[in-house]
Amino acid sequence: MGIVVQKYGGSSVSDAASIKRVAQRIVATKKAGHDVVVVVSAMGDTTDELLDLAHEVSPLPPGRELDMLLTAGERISMALLAMAIGNLGQQAQSFTGSQAGVITDSSHGRAKIIDVTPGRISKAIEEGAVAIVAGFQGVSHESKDITTLGRGGSDTTAVALAAALEAEVCEIYTDVDGIFTADPRIVPTARRIPVISYEETLEMAANGAKILHLRCVEYARRNNMPIHVRSSFSSKEGTWVVSADRINDLLNQGDGESPVMEQAIISGVAHDRSEAKITVVGVPDKVGEAARIFETLADAQINLDMIVQNVSAAATGLTDISFTLPRAEGQTAMTTLARLKDEVGYTQLQYDDGVGKVSLVGAGMRTNPGISAKFFKAIADAGVNIEMISTSEIRISVVVNEQQIDDAVTAAHHAFDLDSDEVEAVIYGGTGR
Ligand code: ASP
Ligand code: MG
Repeated sequence: MGIVVQKYGGSSVSDAASIKRVAQRIVATKKAGHDVVVVVSAMGDTTDELLDLAHEVSPLPPGRELDMLLTAGERISMALLAMAIGNLGQQAQSFTGSQAGVITDSSHGRAKIIDVTPGRISKAIEEGAVAIVAGFQGVSHESKDITTLGRGGSDTTAVALAAALEAEVCEIYTDVDGIFTADPRIVPTARRIPVISYEETLEMAANGAKILHLRCVEYARRNNMPIHVRSSFSSKEGTWVVSADRINDLLNQGDGESPVMEQAIISGVAHDRSEAKITVVGVPDKVGEAARIFETLADAQINLDMIVQNVSAAATGLTDISFTLPRAEGQTAMTTLARLKDEVGYTQLQYDDGVGKVSLVGAGMRTNPGISAKFFKAIADAGVNIEMISTSEIRISVVVNEQQIDDAVTAAHHAFDLDSDEVEAVIYGGTGR
């Protein structure tokens, strides 16, 4: 049997009892004959607490020191987990990201993994030990400094290690039973998705679904590493994230007699409350204005999401350009654009952070007509006004009033028959921080 990489999130190791419970699951996997490499997050809300502390001593903590501080969270959980496993009679050794060979670039707080050289991990598992690795961190060969991968980055550590070790699977243990057709806190009848493609998972993650870190899914897709999302609190089947061509195999494996399951046209409905909308009102309708506006925003390192330009009013020759962006970048974007006022000659800027995005995701959109019509109708019937629309090949997103996100999600979920007959989703842990 091959290597299994298991990642446990903060809510799965939030206290001593949870760590002991997780240790048992790890030992059981080892006893079943697998080599096990474990990636852990910091206990419970440790990362947030450390961040709070940092901001108490300094309004703008330097990135290098912040990374030194935050990576301590994962060092605590990795050592405790190794002790708990040892106590069950199974050898275990913990490693920091740097010791595990996670090499990153040198941008603090959002470092990218550029190489993984897991020599020490391979050696530990050859010697029969379980290797425990601190998630979310690495080391830059350029600056020699410790880095972090961005919030939620332990998922990415796990997939990167799994790929480097050529593991069979990367299991991501969390506090829900897998990926659901909508956030169960909004739609209690959301259904567990048994199998989903990398592409659909990427669209879900990029559009607000919080279950997996976006970068981790990108990494898995690039390396064709199957991800198995499961709860560490139950033994339910969870969700497999695999390449599109493996989906049918997985849905129909078994005795060959049970009915053939078809992949759903729509996988799910994601929502995002973290965006804001900016409208540049009265932009002169001439060549190069949009380029000027968006180049300036790009220079300020602002990530845009949707962009809509209205047709210009014939009488005035002026047009409005609206776009959405992360709320956290709203202030910078507004100041940057204000500086362009005379150059571009627009009339005014409007800022709205009372918006949200609702997205319908499904690979079946490629081949089934009428999906957008049905989606817009469901949203209209729920009394929700659509402010902006954007699409990809397998996603339709709308911007709506933030107060109406839940209504829009519920309506879309219902219109596409995604509701389950029973309440399947249990949220086991986490403080929701
Ligand atoms: N502990 C880090 C965080 O809370 C990394 C992770 O959990 O994946 O963001
Ligand atoms: Mg955490």
